[in-house]
Amino acid sequence: MHLLIPAAGSGRRMKAGKNKLLINLEGESLLYWTLKSVFNSKEIKWVGVIGQPSDKDEIIKSIKEFGNKINWINGGKTRQESVRNGLSSLPKSATKVLIHDGARCLIQPSLIDKCVSEMRDNDAAVLAIKVTDTIKFVNKHHYIENTPDRDNLWAAQTPQGFSVRRLKEAHELAVENNWMVTDDSSLFEMLNWPVKIIEGNPLNIKITSPLDLKIASLFLNDLN
Ligand code: C5P
Repeated sequence: MHLLIPAAGSGRRMKAGKNKLLINLEGESLLYWTLKSVFNSKEIKWVGVIGQPSDKDEIIKSIKEFGNKINWINGGKTRQESVRNGLSSLPKSATKVLIHDGARCLIQPSLIDKCVSEMRDNDAAVLAIKVTDTIKFVNKHHYIENTPDRDNLWAAQTPQGFSVRRLKEAHELAVENNWMVTDDSSLFEMLNWPVKIIEGNPLNIKITSPLDLKIASLFLNDLN
């Protein structure tokens, strides 16, 4: 299976003054730990890291342990554009691809394997967990508008797996129609193409804030 890692963000919300994936976590970069889990999956044979050209040297240095198993791809202004660049850099032989956020370093290798096996029978499959909080739809004046039924609410994570041909088509349609999304499965939804949910793990958080970093350092060694 081929896997793309969007890693071209700026880390604004982390307030670290640099790409959050380069932050030091237990002696290595955050991105190093994500890749460590990826390579602990038996199923992943090709990995593309999508990063900003200005971060390239530092990123490559921080993940040098994985050497020539990494394919570098230049990122774009948005996550969506970064993934589009990733898709056009895949080898021709790639029929299915997993997309996994560089910022989810607590992914368990067994969950990556689960996504790969779901992709045998699906064109799109997404790791997600049932939400436990009651979610409120809130207007811009900070007043609640409504409360969606919690039984139908899931929080999407990554990896998200796709047929390469279909995901490329969805990204092309997004450019033509000016659709902006924060994950790839949203494009399938807009086109009414089915997306299977795979039950994930609440530990697979996206490292976004300094609190998440503390959580990550507590659980990094419990992943296998
Ligand atoms: O900003 P956010 O945490 O939602 O980003 C999710 C993932 O997308 C991160 O791993 C980030 O590095 C990546 N990203 C990207 N290109 C961008 C913006 C974000 O690859 N322009």
